[in-house]
Amino acid sequence: MTLTLIGHNRKFAVEQAVLNYFPKRDGGSAVVRLSESGRLASAMIEYNGKTARGRAWTQPGSSPDNALRFAFYRAAKQIVTPPPWGALTGVRPVKKALEIRGGGHNVAAELSRRYDVSPARAKMAADCAESAASLRERLKPGDFALYIGIPFCPTRCAYCSFVSSAVQKERRLTREYLDTLREEIELAGETVRELGLRLRSIYWGGGTPAILEPDGLSLLLCKLREVFALDGLWEHTFEAGRPDAVTAEKLQAAREGGVTRISVNPQALHQNVLDAIGRKHTPEQFFEAFELARKAGFSNINTDLIAGLPGDSRFLDSLENILALCPENITVHTLAKKRGSRVAQENMQVGSAPAVAEMLDGANGLLQNAGYNPYYLYRQKFTEGGFENTGWSKPGYECLYNLCMMEELCTVLSLGAGGVTKWVGGSRIERLFHCKYPLEYIQRRDIMKDNLSAFAELYRRPNR
Ligand code: SF4
Repeated sequence: MTLTLIGHNRKFAVEQAVLNYFPKRDGGSAVVRLSESGRLASAMIEYNGKTARGRAWTQPGSSPDNALRFAFYRAAKQIVTPPPWGALTGVRPVKKALEIRGGGHNVAAELSRRYDVSPARAKMAADCAESAASLRERLKPGDFALYIGIPFCPTRCAYCSFVSSAVQKERRLTREYLDTLREEIELAGETVRELGLRLRSIYWGGGTPAILEPDGLSLLLCKLREVFALDGLWEHTFEAGRPDAVTAEKLQAAREGGVTRISVNPQALHQNVLDAIGRKHTPEQFFEAFELARKAGFSNINTDLIAGLPGDSRFLDSLENILALCPENITVHTLAKKRGSRVAQENMQVGSAPAVAEMLDGANGLLQNAGYNPYYLYRQKFTEGGFENTGWSKPGYECLYNLCMMEELCTVLSLGAGGVTKWVGGSRIERLFHCKYPLEYIQRRDIMKDNLSAFAELYRRPNR
């Protein structure tokens, strides 16, 4: 779609809106104008032989971005099916819901009234805002979460653009990587002790943390116990990841090391789909891994599914099979065609926006009927239809790390390659980026040390 901006230079705001309503950007043109006074935004879209116009007023004292997006949305919805999130752009709809809640308004009603959000999505955002608000009340200054990154995977999934190293290629680095990580855990423990912070949540992500052998995992867990005070810890999640990497010995090591929540992620439960996305496991391996996790004593298990995967016409069937296992958490993702992924590069045939809408609507109904509530959600770029990823949980099993991370409720200190430490000081957020690749991480201990010093400095600043 060709864009012409008149009277302003707010390209980013308008492009976000274009991406939301015309994700393929396949032809057409739009003129988006801001009046000389800066108060009135208008848009004219020509697409597939249709012409539509929309207007919106800038709110006093606020930037014209919202008005520009709204004007674009009002024109776009005359041409394409209005997306479920209406005129709401951005990846964190719950932030907006929290703002509305803070103003003492009815969140769902206001999201629908102000942004044309569908009643079902408005209710989900309102539920998530409640979960975030209740955790925010529990958190005290100095509480923080710890993220540990294991950026290795057995093979690369077709939809992945994450910096994970296929283990066949990088296996030689695993031992050194673990040594470096132990060193970083040690240094992080010292820093945290000096600052007097309280560790509330630990989350192991990846990659595929279950790629670690039991002895390597035990050594890391042991180091965590040695250097951090874990008596105030509320949860400890190990995102095992691929079912084919899970074994009874690894689960045992995780349990003995203090892990309380585990994630085993099939993404789909039909072989044709697993084959299409390059995951070298079977649906049966997922069921076996889930059973092993229960046998190992895990009473809080999450499983991830993705709606819209190539060749997946039985998404709800996968979900029903998972519901039959009664996991405490189910996370429903929507496929994003990320640049750099095989799905995007090979232009693989994925679920269309209407098909994904049907999958998500069906999933939401099934999950609610089975007693799950949405507790966190976010949207990603490059999802057709602007859909969301939603974490559902049985009451009382919400993953606090996911809430902290997504709603920026407390500082998250990241260790390992590819991580981003997010320091939260009230409304101020600072990010510290770690080395992206395992080799760089191993070789650049200086960056690791600099990051921890910068982290400490953020807490020491007088005006923080
Ligand atoms: S398991 Fe996750 S990180 Fe690993 S390749 Fe697949 S999507 Fe990427």
